[in-house]
Amino acid sequence: MPAIKSVSVFGGASSGSDPACRQAATLLGRLLAEAGIAVIYGGGSIGIMGAVADGALSAGGAVIGIIPDFLARREIAHTGISEMIVTDSMHSRKRRMFEMSDAFVTLPGGLGTLDETVEMITWRQLDLHAKPILICDVAGWAAPFLALVQSLIDQGFAPAASHSFYEVLDGPAALVARLTELPVIEDAAVVSRL
Ligand code: AMP
Repeated sequence: MPAIKSVSVFGGASSGSDPACRQAATLLGRLLAEAGIAVIYGGGSIGIMGAVADGALSAGGAVIGIIPDFLARREIAHTGISEMIVTDSMHSRKRRMFEMSDAFVTLPGGLGTLDETVEMITWRQLDLHAKPILICDVAGWAAPFLALVQSLIDQGFAPAASHSFYEVLDGPAALVARLTELPVIEDAAVVSRL
């Protein structure tokens, strides 16, 4: 059973008000590196995104940034990572991250983080892929998201099985332990339909 070798990590361009979020991001990066899992991420050096990259680099891990050219200045592209891929649009960035990853991990963040996470979930809902989506809960960040999904189910707008498209883990250690249990889903993606 092939093990997961690369994950896209989504997280805020800001660090948030609770220092626990940034600490968790650094730890997640380090634990992924120690597990031999490459970090694919948005390529910035700031906020939660930058902390994940720095954590992985500090433990000798592989870190691949994928950034659209227009964001490279605004999000202060990281100059110390293993590889930087510059794309011509947000859409090609998202597609490239999707293609290169065996699984997706979400750390606390804002609307951009939500967008990326929800897109992976909705692609899975549409059977376009079967790759694992893991949410790393830190300092209660995931609770309002889970409540919103439940509300959509209760109102009849989302399928009752919606929560089954992702898993929520409490902190980086639990998340990486779960990742290392999961197999790579071969032929997981119907990329041509994305
Ligand atoms: P945020 O969680 O709002 O801090 O955003 C985190 C990262 O998500 C940003 O740094 C962007 O690189 C990315 N992002 C923001 N908006 C979008 C979007 N609409 N689609 C895809 N990625 C986005």
